[in-house]
Amino acid sequence: MIVKTKLIPKGFQAMSLWPFIFVLPEHSSNTGLIEHELVHYREQAWVAPIWWVRYLCSKSFRQAAEVRAYKRQIEVGGITKEWAAVMLLSYNLGITFSESLKEFE
Ligand SMILES: [Zn+2]
Repeated sequence: MIVKTKLIPKGFQAMSLWPFIFVLPEHSSNTGLIEHELVHYREQAWVAPIWWVRYLCSKSFRQAAEVRAYKRQIEVGGITKEWAAVMLLSYNLGITFSESLKEFE
């Protein structure tokens, strides 16, 4: 279920917390962004608390989850590989831009 709301942590445009996807009203028609969130949403089905614990505690889990979601976003034409690589740097993963870019090549 997609919920348009302004109550999203600062710096985010959308957030999946199964069974909901929260999205800022001004981004609710961004298909690429919604597809990105749907990747997280499907992975969280029935196991959202476990997913979130792993996401917050494990850099490698977070990185893999974001790479899957950004690949989907690229696939639907939402963003370029380079932009996905820039975005990936904002998840506190301790990786460089070239390492990030490699994930999408
Ligand atoms: Zn994501």
